[in-house]
Amino acid sequence: MIDKKPKIGVIGAGHLGKHHIKHLAQHNDVEFVGAFDTNASALRKVCAEFSVNPVNSIEELVKNCTAVHIVTPTNTHFELGKFFLENNLDILIEKPITETVKEAESLIEIADQNKCIIQVGHIERFNPTINKLKQLISSPHCIEIERLAPFQARGTEVPVILDLMVHDIDMVLEMVDSPIKNIQASGAKMMSSTIDLAHAHIQFQNGVVANLKSSRIAQGYVRKIRTYQKNLYSITDLMIPQIEIYGLKNSGQFSQQSISRAVETSEGEKTVFYEKFIPEQKDALLEEINNFVESIIKRSRPNVDGHAGKRALDIALQIENKIFLND
Ligand code: NAD
Repeated sequence: MIDKKPKIGVIGAGHLGKHHIKHLAQHNDVEFVGAFDTNASALRKVCAEFSVNPVNSIEELVKNCTAVHIVTPTNTHFELGKFFLENNLDILIEKPITETVKEAESLIEIADQNKCIIQVGHIERFNPTINKLKQLISSPHCIEIERLAPFQARGTEVPVILDLMVHDIDMVLEMVDSPIKNIQASGAKMMSSTIDLAHAHIQFQNGVVANLKSSRIAQGYVRKIRTYQKNLYSITDLMIPQIEIYGLKNSGQFSQQSISRAVETSEGEKTVFYEKFIPEQKDALLEEINNFVESIIKRSRPNVDGHAGKRALDIALQIENKIFLND
């Protein structure tokens, strides 16, 4: 228990906002003020579900909160983020941070001036399966990520690169410590007025390549990460979730439980090790919220600050700009 709990509110009680509200309403280290949404009937319903207070305006949030979670559509992030930061509130803003790099820079500047915290909702940083994968691999030469989903209208105010691929861009930028050398991309529109399907090929100066594929017009949900490095190949399925590792020799990643098999190759017999990892499951959103609460209390930098959000957005927009649409 802490002496002075941050007073937190939520703006946006939609699909994701509901989960923020649920966690904050039962968080021991937070005084949850309530939620505001421009859709009054949806707000009433969500507030009743979690027995929390509806708030009548953003001004009321400012009056009663020291921090807010901004869980509204991306095209509102800048305006709302600016408003709360100018009123000296810390913000947890959903991804992507804003629609333009200039807007992200402006939010970072206001936060710096007012000594406020910005955390961006790149939730995969708190995904226990991804964090386990990062422990198991060391220096991948090639990273392939697929993030596919069936179509739904929600989120289509921005291209799929800003909606889905931005998660993987952030993940790759965190895994590869090198500047980007080149980006190639292709994509298509089908169901919305923005790009629904995108493929990106990112080459880093240190030789690492990342191939990202995102779609919101797929038949089903796919969340797969494949990494290749010397002697080690990993396949991670975030939907199960599980990590499978294959290694040409016992490279130290394998435990006693690993299965080994002798394989005849043109270079003679090689031993291939295989092991499956089922990481301990934790609620990534709760972990993200805990990181925000800790940052507020300690006045420390959150894991995903405004700069990280801006960096992922910058690459996402570069990918979008590379896509030639034939329409
Ligand atoms: P949603 O459409 O379900 O909910 C958005 C809510 O915001 C709606 O209830 C709407 O009425 C409300 N709203 C819109 N403008 C408002 C305003 N000016 N003031 C107050 N309320 C307003 O959308 P969602 O799926 O919950 O997405 C919200 C945000 O969360 C988006 O930025 C999206 O990219 C992000 N998101 C992140 C993840 C993740 O994995 N981190 C997943 C889904 C969505």
